[in-house]
Amino acid sequence: MAKEEYAIGLDLGGTKILAGLVDHDGRIIAQKQLPTYAEEGKRAVIERVLSATHDVLSASGIHPEKVRGVGIASAGVINSDSGEVIFASNLGWRNVPIGLLIEQRFGLPVRLFNDANAAAIAEWLWGAGVGTRNMIYVTVSTGVGAGIVSDGRLISGRDGSAGEFGHISIDWNGPPCRCGNRGCLENYASGTAIESAASHKLVSTKEPVTDGILVQNGELTAKVICEAALAGDAFFAQIVKQAGFYLGIGAANLIYLFNPEVIVFGGGVMNASALLLPEIEKSMRDRCIPGLVQGVRVALSQIGAEAGVMGAAGGVFALNQPEEKPQNF
Ligand SMILES: [Zn+2]
Repeated sequence: MAKEEYAIGLDLGGTKILAGLVDHDGRIIAQKQLPTYAEEGKRAVIERVLSATHDVLSASGIHPEKVRGVGIASAGVINSDSGEVIFASNLGWRNVPIGLLIEQRFGLPVRLFNDANAAAIAEWLWGAGVGTRNMIYVTVSTGVGAGIVSDGRLISGRDGSAGEFGHISIDWNGPPCRCGNRGCLENYASGTAIESAASHKLVSTKEPVTDGILVQNGELTAKVICEAALAGDAFFAQIVKQAGFYLGIGAANLIYLFNPEVIVFGGGVMNASALLLPEIEKSMRDRCIPGLVQGVRVALSQIGAEAGVMGAAGGVFALNQPEEKPQNF
């Protein structure tokens, strides 16, 4: 039987703040969701984060002594040591010491993770990476990111920002990226890239689109494109598959760097996994030394919208049990 101990996971998203009390088996015992409303300003959002934390603790009926700490998953640039969100455009935050504020209010230790790293922990402890010591989680949504578990530990990097997989360059002479580099993977393989590839192709080829899907849906979002592709629209399917091809190139780089057992793909764009995964597998295997790629599994994430909450809480368990996970969580 698992230990009776709990951690609070907080997922700070641009549309909602999700707080969950999570047990040692990754079950969410109680949860509280509040809208972010970033436009109301930093203080209002901080208050809602504190209030969601308080509510989830009191709703659970669990004695605070059994709660090991609070894990926070946040997008943007963070400093895991200082517990600061340095910059998160979706929250409208700059230099917010959220870790310290929660610690002061609730007297619990706090650990901050970037959202891809939190999702990686969730998949590793309770999802598609269970039983492995070398797992890479790749998220494909608006952007592309990754969380890397290597030799049984999360690679955090200097300040918790390791795994910026979307900004590895796959074309030295490619289009400029907002990061300053050129030809970054996320300019070819993210939801945003899929949208822009579809718009460009529509303008340049003037190919007819089946089912009048553009007219029906108005906006050409990655979600619309993926749904049309899955429904059999060849024009959009080709664009989605192209993204898979590029993700496979990125995955090959990960194999050379980390020698993983499994690469787990998640994020909204992976709703089109039926089209993406075969393309990822193909270009990845075509580009790797056979002996290196042979044993590598490509898997779809198993944990859905709760990955941030679960992973942030999971990171707290790992942090508090050095004898079980003696690494640098
Ligand atoms: Zn970039």
